Amino acid sequence: MRISERLNRIPPYLFAEIDRKKAEAIKKGVDVISLGIGDPDLPTPDYIIESLYRGAKNPENHRYPSYEGSLRFREAVAHWYKKRYDVDLDPETEIMALIGSKEGIAHVFFAFVDPGDYTLIPDPAYPVYKTATIFAGGTPVAMPLKAENNFLPDLEGIPQDVVQKAKLMFLNYPNNPTAATADLEFFSRAVEFARKHELIICHDSAYMEITFDGYKAPSLMQVPGGKEVGIEFGSLSKPFNMTGWRIGYAVGSKEIISKLAVIKTNIDSGQFNAIQEAAVTALEGPDSHIHEMNRIYKERRDVAIRHLKELGIQVRPSNATFYIWAPVPEGYTSTEFAATLLEKAGVIVSPGNAYGDEGEGYFRIALTVDKQRITEAFERIKEKVEF
Ligand SMILES: *Cc1c(COP(=O)(O)O)cnc(C)c1O
Repeated sequence: MRISERLNRIPPYLFAEIDRKKAEAIKKGVDVISLGIGDPDLPTPDYIIESLYRGAKNPENHRYPSYEGSLRFREAVAHWYKKRYDVDLDPETEIMALIGSKEGIAHVFFAFVDPGDYTLIPDPAYPVYKTATIFAGGTPVAMPLKAENNFLPDLEGIPQDVVQKAKLMFLNYPNNPTAATADLEFFSRAVEFARKHELIICHDSAYMEITFDGYKAPSLMQVPGGKEVGIEFGSLSKPFNMTGWRIGYAVGSKEIISKLAVIKTNIDSGQFNAIQEAAVTALEGPDSHIHEMNRIYKERRDVAIRHLKELGIQVRPSNATFYIWAPVPEGYTSTEFAATLLEKAGVIVSPGNAYGDEGEGYFRIALTVDKQRITEAFERIKEKVEF
C-alpha cells in the first residue's frame, strides 16, 4: 500500500509513547490518573439532554439537515454574540453551523491554502492548524508563543518574505495549551496586521466561556474590522460539556464563511437537526450552569497550583481555560518528565513538545478530574518522583 504524500508529511504522533506506557500500566493494574486529555468530565446539563430527546422524536429532524445549519441555530448564535459581546451578526450570511469546531478549523484551510502558500500557526498549539495546512498542501510557519511575550505571537517579528507568502493566520485565545489570554488591543493589532498584509485571521475561541476571577474573554468580532478580515470558530463542547455531541459554529466575514461553505457542502451534509435544537436550548439557557462549571475549574486550578508550588514548580495562575502550562523541573525534557510521572506515579500529563517545538520544557495539566483526584495525583508525585 502506498499512502499519499500528504499523509507522509504529517508530523509523528507524540502521544504514542504515553499511550503505550498507559496501556502497560493499566494492564499491571495501576490506577492511572489522567490529567492529559482536554475533555470535560462534567456531564452535559439535563435540560439540554431533554431537548435532544424531544428533537429526536420529531420526524422532520430525521431528514438531511441544511448545509449551513438551521436558521434557528444560527439565530441563537447571533443572540449569544449580541448578549455576551454586544456584536451584531447576520444569521443568514455571517454564521454557519459546524460538526464541532474542529471540523470547520480543518476545512477552512482547503478553501484558502494552495501548495506554496504559508500559514501562520502558533507554536505551541492545537495540532489541527498545522496538519490541516499540510493536508491542503501548504507550509505551516510557526509563530512562537513565548512566556516573555505573555504567550502572544510577535507579529512584527515575522519575517517579511514569510508574511508575503502567508494566506492565513490562526489565533487561539484563551489559549490551549498555554492558558494565556489576549485582550482587545492585541486583536486590534492582529486585524491591522491582517489588513496590511491581506491575510485572513481565523480565531479559535473554544475556551472563550471558560474564565474565572471576573475575567471575560473578548471576541475578535468586537474589534473594528474583525468581521471583515476574520472568522471566529466557536464550540458548544467546552462551555456546555458537549464534546461528544459535535456541534460548533463559524461566525464573521460572509466572504470567508461562504467559501468555507463550498468546501463543506462537498464533504458533509450538516449536523443532525435534533442536536442543533439541543444546542439552541444550551445557548438560550440560564448562565448558572456556566458559572457553576467555572467555579469548579477555578477550585481545581487553585488546588493544582498549590501543589505545584510545594513541588517548587512556579506557574502564573491563568484566569481562563481548564489547563495549567508549567515548566518541567530542571534536568528533564518534556517527554522524560511526562514518562517519569506515568511510570513512577501513574499520573498522565501532556508533554509540552507534543504541541510544537516551543512547547519543549513545559508540560500541560488538564483540570478535567475532580479535586480529590488532583490531590491524589500530586500526593503520589510527591512521594514517588524525585526532583
Ligand atoms: C477542544 C478544542 C477545540 C475543538 O472543539 P470541538 O468543537 O469539540 O471540535 C478546538 N480548538 C481547541 C484549541 C480545543 O482545545
